[in-house]
Amino acid sequence: MKLYEYLAKDIMSKFGIPVPRGSAADDPAEVERIAASIGGEVVVKAQALVGGRGKAGGIKFASSPAEAREIAEGMLGSELKGVKVEKVLIEEKLKIDKEVYVGIAVDTRKARPVLIASGSGGMEIEEVPEKEIVRRLIEPPWGLEAFMGREITRRLGLNGPVGGKVADIIMKLYHVFTRCDAELTEINPLVISDGNVVAADARLNVDDDALYRHPELPRVEEGTPTELRVKSMGLSYVELDGDIAVMANGAGMAMATLDVLQRYGGRPANFLDAGGGASVEPMAEAIGILLSTKPKAILVNIFGGITRCDDVARALIKVKETVGFPVPVVIRLVGTNEEEGVSLLRQHGFEAYRTMDEATRAVVEAAGRANPWQ
Ligand code: GDP
Ligand code: MN
Repeated sequence: MKLYEYLAKDIMSKFGIPVPRGSAADDPAEVERIAASIGGEVVVKAQALVGGRGKAGGIKFASSPAEAREIAEGMLGSELKGVKVEKVLIEEKLKIDKEVYVGIAVDTRKARPVLIASGSGGMEIEEVPEKEIVRRLIEPPWGLEAFMGREITRRLGLNGPVGGKVADIIMKLYHVFTRCDAELTEINPLVISDGNVVAADARLNVDDDALYRHPELPRVEEGTPTELRVKSMGLSYVELDGDIAVMANGAGMAMATLDVLQRYGGRPANFLDAGGGASVEPMAEAIGILLSTKPKAILVNIFGGITRCDDVARALIKVKETVGFPVPVVIRLVGTNEEEGVSLLRQHGFEAYRTMDEATRAVVEAAGRANPWQ
């Protein structure tokens, strides 16, 4: 689970990490009040779970409360890198002398947390040349030792009281990491200004499997409106950027289908695992949702075990008779009650393939023809 910047800062601040004065809001009038109470210049920051908001227009400065309100009016409800902005964070504008990067992530190969720091703060760490990045593995039984924080700080060229403050923040960031069962805690940039050190941006991603022991943490639902809708039906669904919608039963089957599709030059529009044993109604609804994403073709790949082929056929027939299929539907149907399912499909003008290979090739070809949505 990824937390929004304002939530991450709230938590970091509880652990003693200095953050700018400010507050989040979802309404322009409230933004104006917050800006007025901060006084002076403020920064208005779109709260969206995307990186590089600065470059994408999601970070703007205002010199008056009225201007902050105007900026918020433009941001709230708009999309930033495809994600809807529902809140903005208003903070005092910091004067920046230097920006550094500090983060703690999981090094999955070494199976340890890794402390990452760089004197090139402010830009995405993925874009910083490797030689400007310092990494130190952390041994979980010992944790982050104070000397490691100081050593890293010296490497960044920070000495004296400022160096001490940065080293202290690094220790606190590790406390946040362990106490919140985080997968990532990141401050980018950590701003140095007139001898003060402040977290100007914050990220905190919590391990989903540890959420059950963190009732104190806020919950953030991530996903497009369609993803959230399908999730609420109890199905797994992820949007991708291709144009062939895919429904398969079982996560392994869905992933294999995506692989075979790519192999034949097709681009999946999504990953939909219709699950095992879904009944006609939710399956028909899921197919309807796939159609609403306007794919060029739909591939249904079912290997019926608990899922019965005749139920799959009935779901497809139901969609055909209610909303209709404006795009080609290619079906592969084998397994439990296969004969009944295939014969039902034939009666309603559908064809069914027996192998995944044939069906996948057919759907790639069908998607290559004219796009009915244009
Ligand atoms: P990101 O682009 O999504 O990582 O958003 P950030 O919160 O990191 O902001 C991007 C950049 O905007 C930072 O690296 C800073 O250079 C700048 N910025 C953010 N907040 C302030 C601020 O309070 N004062 C100044 N001068 N610059 C800021
Ligand atoms: Mn940032």
